[in-house]
Parts: sequence; structure tokens; C-alpha cells
Amino acid sequence: HRDTDLILSVEDVNKTFDGFKAISDLNFYLGDGELRTIIGPNGAGKSTFMDMITGRTRPDTGKLTMHKPDGHDIDLSKLPEFKINRLGISRKFQTPSVYTQHSVYDNLLLSLPRSRTLFSSIFYKESAADRAAIEEALETIRLQDLRHEIAGNLSHGQKQWLEIGMLLAQKPSILLVDEPAAGMTDDETERTGELLISLAGKHSLIVIEHDMTFVKQIARDGKVTVLHQGTVLCEGKFDEVQNNPKVREVYLGR
Ligand code: ADP
Ligand code: MG
Repeated sequence: HRDTDLILSVEDVNKTFDGFKAISDLNFYLGDGELRTIIGPNGAGKSTFMDMITGRTRPDTGKLTMHKPDGHDIDLSKLPEFKINRLGISRKFQTPSVYTQHSVYDNLLLSLPRSRTLFSSIFYKESAADRAAIEEALETIRLQDLRHEIAGNLSHGQKQWLEIGMLLAQKPSILLVDEPAAGMTDDETERTGELLISLAGKHSLIVIEHDMTFVKQIARDGKVTVLHQGTVLCEGKFDEVQNNPKVREVYLGR
């Protein structure tokens, strides 16, 4: 991977809900293999921004472009959500969503592109490639020892990792993760940070978070984007952003 290659461009995007400007002239560029952290106060437009990338919400104006490694550009703003997902853009919502009655292994099996529904999977025999994909996901999320455990018995953190593993089994190129550390213990939070860091390079990631210890852990030397009132307030390394007077005002001011 060449770090300077872009995988996603968001240009001059606007979105108004009933007269309220949720996204305002937003510009954002994600490098291929980058791990980008987005912070910003409540209502800044962070989740709406993710909604627009995945096609859940349409921008009123502006451009969203995915840049494929083969040089092709794809205009995301006109594609339905399922097609954007098929292009390899996956979203992890804040609350975990796993099949609580099924084992960790079966959750991963069910998330493979060929076994979309619970019903078909009952009769579905996984291929060697499927097993390899599941093993790789298990290793990445470090739940190998819990492969036979029923997902409903997992801790909150383990469920979140499992869901990340389920998304990984589909080999996404861009992974969007909304507040992964919410509700986690300190240990779980740190492990989640390690997991996300390990994904960078192989995947491009956008992580929304407000736990600053966690943001510092995952941002390392990478870029942090601060959203405020639907637009980018500032962008830079963690320390630069943290010391930016505008950012301090947004978080501490009033
Ligand atoms: P964040 O995730 O940064 O907390 P959101 O993206 O959820 O912020 O919301 C940004 C603003 O847009 C908020 O003021 C929210 O009330 C508003 N908003 C988001 N989605 C909708 C919607 N579907 N309809 C009306 N207003 C919305
Ligand atoms: Mg949000």
C-alpha cells in the first residue's frame, strides 16, 4: 500500500434536515489503508457523515467518491446502500449486533457473503476458503478460545469484537466504526484500540470516538479530524488537535 493513495473523497457535501444544516460544506479525504479518527461534540454531524458514506442518507449537494485500486472512481452519492456495501464499505454501529443463540464460529460463518441468511446456513457446508477466512477473523479479534461459546454469553466487549470480526470476514476495504469503546471496561477499550490499529493498512478505517484516552491510543501518528456544526473544524495529529484553541473552545467554551 502506498499511503498517499486516496480511497475516499468527500467534497463540498451538504445535508439539511427540516431546515437544520447537519452537514455543511464538508470536505474529507481518506488515504488507502489509513486509520482516521473523527471526534466532535454531540450533534456535530459525525453519525450523519457515516450515514452519507454508506448511502443510508443522501447528501443534498456535493460529491462522495470511492477510488478503487485499479484506478476507477465510483460515485457513491447515487448508489443504494446495499451496492455501497458490496463495494466493500462496511459499517459498525454503536451497539453490538450478533446472533446471540449461535456460537462465535457460526456467527462468523453466517456473516460470510455466501451465507447471508440463517436459514440457508443450516444446510450450508463451509468451504476450505470459508474456514480460512473464519480462522483469520478469529485470530484477528483474538476469540479463538471462545469459538464454541454461544455469542449471547460473551461480554459486551467480546460481542463488539465479534461483530468487527463478522464485518472483516467480508473483507471490506473501508470499515466505518461508530464509538466502539462506548460501554467498555478500560481493558476492553485498550484491546479494541489494539485491534483497530492491527487492521490499518489491510483496511481503511474511519473511527468515531469521544474517549480521548482511546483516541490518543489509536491515533498515534495518524490524523484526527474534528467535526463541529457539520464541517471540519480542524485536522491534524492528536497533539496538534488537542492544543488547537478552536477545539478547546468547542469542547470547553460557552
Ligand atoms: P453526532 O453523531 O455528531 O452526535 P448526528 O450526525 O447524529 O451528530 O446529528 C447531527 C445533527 O443532525 C443533530 O442536530 C441531529 O439532531 C440532526 N439529525 C441527524 N439525523 C437527523 C434526521 N434523520 N432528521 C432530523 N435531524 C437529524
Ligand atoms: Mg453519533
